[in-house]
Amino acid sequence: MTEVTFTCPICSSEFKTEIDDDMIREGKTNPVPIVIPHGDPEHAVTVFIDKEYRLRGVNPLQFVHRFEEVKLESRDYFKSYIPFPLEEEVSFKGLDNKFITILNVADGHKTVEDIAEIIDESPFTTRMISLLLVRMGKLDSLRTVMRS
Ligand SMILES: [Zn+2]
Repeated sequence: MTEVTFTCPICSSEFKTEIDDDMIREGKTNPVPIVIPHGDPEHAVTVFIDKEYRLRGVNPLQFVHRFEEVKLESRDYFKSYIPFPLEEEVSFKGLDNKFITILNVADGHKTVEDIAEIIDESPFTTRMISLLLVRMGKLDSLRTVMRS
């Protein structure tokens, strides 16, 4: 094992890390590039160690796949909410028609978007009413799901 100390050019942290001698010996280039991921948000540096186990350089490296993940999330998936009914019957007394309709159609499968169409409201308003119904003890919960 070879101990290497370096400073990350991205986060300015100082690191001491052990590098397997085999990695250097079997490296096809000289110096041998070794990627060291760390930090939050995660990033990485490539350290270059020569065949005499000396540190020759440190290069910042960003993970391209991090960007792809974000793109995938925002393009292909969106967050939705599903109102879950209580097990027992609830009283509709004093409730607005839209509130009652939500309670009637909430089956733990329909999302706020589905219900918004039924009551002719925006998904946002439907979510707010559903949250209010949870607080009033008329609905069990509003659960978050990721939909494609
Ligand atoms: Zn760093």
